[in-house]
Parts: sequence; structure tokens; C-alpha cells
Amino acid sequence: MTSRLYRDRGIVLRTYKAGESDRIIVFLTEQNGKVRAIAKGVRKTRSKFGGRLEPLSMLEIQLHRGRDLDVVNQVETIDSTHGVFGDLDSMTEAIAVLEAVDQLVPDREPVPHMYRMLVGVRRTLLTRPSPLVVPAFLWKLLASEGVHPVLDRCSVCGEVPEGDKDFSTFDLHHGGVTCSTCRTGMSISRPALDLMRDVLGGRLGDALDRAHHPGGQTLDDPVVNEVALLATKAFEHHVERRLRSVSIFERHDPGS
Ligand SMILES: [Zn+2]
Repeated sequence: MTSRLYRDRGIVLRTYKAGESDRIIVFLTEQNGKVRAIAKGVRKTRSKFGGRLEPLSMLEIQLHRGRDLDVVNQVETIDSTHGVFGDLDSMTEAIAVLEAVDQLVPDREPVPHMYRMLVGVRRTLLTRPSPLVVPAFLWKLLASEGVHPVLDRCSVCGEVPEGDKDFSTFDLHHGGVTCSTCRTGMSISRPALDLMRDVLGGRLGDALDRAHHPGGQTLDDPVVNEVALLATKAFEHHVERRLRSVSIFERHDPGS
């Protein structure tokens, strides 16, 4: 009989209670994609690894493959999350990142690029947190899904702005900015558009450095808020559209 034990690296996306003393842990693993596993007895005070299975924890894990749920067998911490969960803003940002990944990634489908992105954003959350981290991550996630917002020409007619002019509207359905003639979607300010171009145009590191305030975060930056609102709406739009296409697919292919 082949061994059903396997090892992998994983980041905890979320956990929830099960039964009297167990907890179900949702991991994004490096090689096995998103995995749901039961950690038995972890809510008892004498549990050997209960305290390590917190959201955002990065772990070396050994799991026993099960039919629906795997079983957590061993857990070693690779990198702890000290600090994040003492800071309410960082915690909120971490949860938003983990939820977005959980929503986007299907079970047991290897997504090593997604794992690498999560490792990267996790490091950013731990070292230079700012209100820009979540929206920047959402835009990068969308880009990795093939959804690149059009920011250099009108997403309806293709017009390119002349001279000092720039776009002032962004249309979620068309997936980009719109010119003054087409003019559909929600309004976007020039600084917010510039920030989005930085985030998506290979200048993310600089943008994150600018947004990070070592003495504490400023959550009232209107430009970052604008980019965050647009990122959230674009992400929701994408997830809804994908859920719709999945349900249509399932209706036509009941055998899968
Ligand atoms: Zn146009």
C-alpha cells in the first residue's frame, strides 16, 4: 500500500472550529494548492501544535491524505507572524489578503505562482505594512489571472490622451479607463490613476515604500482609498463573473 502521508510548505488561509476540540485548517500549499485539513484536538490546552495554526502562519506540514479532508499530522513553524496580530490594521489587511486568495483558488489544484505571490505579500505585510498592500495585491492577483486593467488608452474606443490630458473614468465592465467621449464607469482622479500605473507597471516596490509610514499607518489617504475601492470592485466583479461561468460549465457537464 502506498503511503498517504505527504509533506509540503503552506500558509494558513483560515481556520474554523469543528466538533468538540478540533479545527479545520485551510492551507495554501506550495505544491498541492489549497488544502483543507482537520487538526485534531487543537482546541485542548495541551495540544502540541494548536498555537502554530494561526492565519498567515508559514509552516512546514505533514498531512495524511483523506477523501474530503486531510489530517494534520505534524507542524513546524518556518516563519512566525509575531507583531501582525497585535496591530489591528495589519490584521485586517492580512485577513483581506488571505480571503482573496481563498476565494480565487480552487481546492487541490497546484498554483505555485499564487503561493509565491502570497509569500511575497506576507513579507510585505510583516515588514512594511501600509493601506496600499491589499489593493496592490488584489491588482496583482487579477493580473495573474489574465485581467490587466487598460490604463494607457480608452478601453472602449482605444483613444490615447493627447498632451497633458488624461482619463478621468474607469469602467469595470470594459476593464479599464474610458475617454471623455465614451465616458462610462466611475470617476478616477489623476493621482489614483498614476498610483495604479506604478503598482501595475513594475514600480510596486517604490509605491509600497512611499505608502509605508514607519511611525504608524495613515488610513485616511484619499488616493490610496480610491485605488483600494477600485481594486475591491474589480476583484468582486472578476470573482462573480468566474463563479457564473463555472456554474454554466457545471450545468452543461454534469459528468465531471
Ligand atoms: Zn473612448
